[in-house]
Amino acid sequence: APVLSPEFQELLAWGDEVRKLSVLANADNPEDAAKAREFGAQGIGLCRTEHMFLGPDRVSIVQRMILAEDEEERGRALEELLPLQRQDFVGILRAMAGLPVTVRLLDPPLHEFLPNLEDLLVEVTQLRERGDDPDRLRERERLLRKVRVLHEANPMLGHRGCRLGITFPEVYRVQVRALYEAAAELAAGGVSVKPEVMIPLVGHHRELEILRAQVIEEAERVLQEKGVELPIKVGTMIEVPRAALTAGEIAAQADFFSFGTNDLTQMTFGFSRDDAEGKFLHAYVQGGILDADPFMVLDEPGVGRLIRWAVQEGRTANPELKVGICGEHGGDPRSITFCHNVGLDYVSCSPYRVPVARLAAARAALG
Ligand code: PEP
Ligand code: MG
Repeated sequence: APVLSPEFQELLAWGDEVRKLSVLANADNPEDAAKAREFGAQGIGLCRTEHMFLGPDRVSIVQRMILAEDEEERGRALEELLPLQRQDFVGILRAMAGLPVTVRLLDPPLHEFLPNLEDLLVEVTQLRERGDDPDRLRERERLLRKVRVLHEANPMLGHRGCRLGITFPEVYRVQVRALYEAAAELAAGGVSVKPEVMIPLVGHHRELEILRAQVIEEAERVLQEKGVELPIKVGTMIEVPRAALTAGEIAAQADFFSFGTNDLTQMTFGFSRDDAEGKFLHAYVQGGILDADPFMVLDEPGVGRLIRWAVQEGRTANPELKVGICGEHGGDPRSITFCHNVGLDYVSCSPYRVPVARLAAARAALG
């Protein structure tokens, strides 16, 4: 049975004729991609690749990569990751044939792939007390040293996103290789593929300049090996306030911007969503300090003003720049009205929000 009734489909189709915003979806597996497509998504605006690293087989490979003593060992672990990641991309590109798929390179802090520091401390203490398994103890102690080195007091402001890409360039290289091998394989078989690469957490144009060059180099190498021609598009998340403020310099290095309003809201207000929601945020809204939860509704005088500025600066520096949003606000009707007014090209939201986003975009266009 159809998920959307024929009457609702017709209403959506009327809306599609008037709306200016494209509606894309956030999805990172073929099932969600197919669902998004069914709901009328015009592409994937955010494919978070970290979710692809989390299966138990993947985590052990990533752990070996992090714990590697040298480049060679790290290279071997990454070689194992390549075919798995390639399959991930084949699935998603195939599900979205003919439509753009924006793949965001690895974002979370590396320590997320390692065991918890406290659990490990308990285990090492117990092993020391028992003294009956010196090999295991040595192995766990080595792991503990690494976990301590990687441990961060504020991981969301720490060693993640493009900072990983700069310090562990081979991780991003393998991801780019996997994506373009997948794209080339499908393209050679006659499937229309439109991959795009997105760099997370950029705050300085030099970060993007360096990583963009690396992405293009690896993508060109793969396409040449496979004898396939595809356009290479590289863009960036705008989710650090500094990136919004220096959008002109950043736009010169980017084919597109995607506002990551989850992080941008957190960093602009200076409070974390997890900590704010259960604590003072409710009191702020009740007390009228804030007119709505800024994580739910784009805040015009604050985060919205940064977006407005970045769109203007970005388009002035690079008139070809495509601009969208992929934070949770991309699926909220009130925020979508703001996105329309500020002149974004697209919103990207969770698959189930695509129909609502299409209607909200149409309503915004009707004024
Ligand atoms: C964001 O920060 O808004 C975003 C889309 O990225 P993530 O939620 O994965 O940090
Ligand atoms: Mg983010």
